[in-house]
Formats: sequence, C-alpha cells, structure tokens
Amino acid sequence: MILDNFKLNGKVAMVTGCNTGLGQGMALGLAEAGATIVAVNRDNAEDTEKKLKEIGNPYFMLKADLSSIDVIPNLVQEALASASKIDILVNNAGIIRRDDSLVFSEKDWDDVMNVNSKVLFFLSQAVANHYIARKVRGKIINICSMLSFQGGIRVPSYTASKSAAAGLTRLMANEWAQYNINVNAIAPGYMDTDNTAPIMADPERAKAILSRIPAGSWGLASDLQGPIVFLASDASNYLHGAIIPVDGGWLAR
Ligand code: NAD
Repeated sequence: MILDNFKLNGKVAMVTGCNTGLGQGMALGLAEAGATIVAVNRDNAEDTEKKLKEIGNPYFMLKADLSSIDVIPNLVQEALASASKIDILVNNAGIIRRDDSLVFSEKDWDDVMNVNSKVLFFLSQAVANHYIARKVRGKIINICSMLSFQGGIRVPSYTASKSAAAGLTRLMANEWAQYNINVNAIAPGYMDTDNTAPIMADPERAKAILSRIPAGSWGLASDLQGPIVFLASDASNYLHGAIIPVDGGWLAR
C-alpha cells in the first residue's frame, strides 16, 4: 500500500545540527515516521533528546564540530558503532554571517563555506561510500535555501554556500543515482528560527518579507516534516537531484 512506502521503520537517519530549529523539527518528523535517529550536534541537544525519548524509537546522540572535515571519519565510525548502519543523511547544520559585501571578511567567508558546503560534500561522500559498500539504497538530503536560487542581501558567503549546496545536490545525484543513492534537497523559505531572528527583529525587513510570502506567514520547523519524510522514504525512490522549495509560495511570486 502506498502509505507503507512513507514508513521509515528499521531505517537509520543521521541528522546534523538538530539541537534546535529546522534540524530538530526534521529529526522528530523522521523519528515519528519510524526511523532511528543519529543526532549530530556541536552544542547541547538535551531538548531534542527529551523529545526523541518521548517518541520512543532508539536514538543516539553524537557530538561533532562540523566546521572542519577532519571530524568526518570519526563521526561516521561512531555512528556505525552505535547504530550499525546509516540509511539516510540529512545535511542540515548551517550558519550565516551578515555584513556588507564591500567589507565582508575572509573569516566570515571561510567559516560559512566550511560548514554549509565543504562539510556537506565530504560527509555526503563518506556516507555514500558506506551505502555503496553495503550495496543498499541510501538517501542524502541537503538543506538548501531561497539563496540557492536568489542573491540575497549582505550574506555573500551564505548565498555562495547555499548555491553550492544546490549545485552539489545535482552533481552528487548525477554520479550516484546509478548506485541507488537518492540525493535531493529541501529549500526552506523564510522560517521562524534562531537563524532568522535578526531579520525578524528588524521591523522593516520583517514586514517586507512577510508581504511577499503568498501563504501570509513565516514557516515553522514542522512544515518540513512531510517533505523530509517523503525524501527519506521509498516513496521518493525515483527522485534524483530535486530541490524542493518549502517556502509558502515565495519563489512563485
Ligand atoms: P539554527 O541556527 O537554529 O540551526 C543551525 C544548526 O546547525 C544548529 O543545530 C547548530 O548547532 C548547527 N551548527 C552550526 N554550526 C555547526 C558546527 N560547526 N558543527 C555542528 N553543528 C553546527 O538555524 P535553522 O534555521 O534551524 O537552520 C537549519 C538549516 O536550515 C541551516 O542549514 C540553514 O542555513 C537552513 N535554512 C534556514 C532557513 C530559515 O529561514 N531559518 C531558511 C533556509 C535555510
């Protein structure tokens, strides 16, 4: 039956940066669909752990600072030692730095590019090799942005990194579809999280943004739960290289 294809029982999902915000929402959605969660966080993730415990599936809480690719081999090893396998990778961890392009610093460039695109690529590479070695279908879901499609303002490294994430989603899909690896992405619109707190706190920007969203409201972490379960499940096995906007209609304007 078609609804059974959306179930994730028996699957292991590694979700990066899920102590809060969109990552937490997606980890909980995947757990509710039946997955065992391997939560990867740099910071304290007690709130997520408490919520995962309430859902009741097994879960594993791992620590890693994803600002460098050096942590990847250990991280994958730890995940496999805890959960025995990975079936789904959600590359959600991300940061943003805001400053005028005329004075934007190299540090703000490198820090953002490292987490949002370099680690995204090399963690995907490591997990893809695990899928191929096991000869099983695997899912990789990257978290893109409206700035995977648009220029943005005062966030040059974020725009570059999220445009890279979109390009890499397509590249990895092209190369790895032959191994039954589905690489796709979600591009959230303007969502109410810590990441967007500074623009929500700016009355003029917040009003201008809201007036352009056809749905009439900022998105919530829970709005990503349906799309992430779809992309993580067998219901999306013929999807490769898609970048699904979940944006209240923002891109349609
Ligand atoms: P958030 O700041 O609440 O969450 C970001 C997560 O990434 C946190 O868990 C944080 O700890 C983690 N992270 C950051 N640097 C890390 C590092 N070095 N190592 C490990 N973890 C690290 O923001 P959010 O809005 O929930 O963002 C989640 C993702 O969604 C990000 O990739 C973001 O770019 C993207 N996104 C957000 C919006 C939005 O409107 N909020 C829109 C489009 C895309």
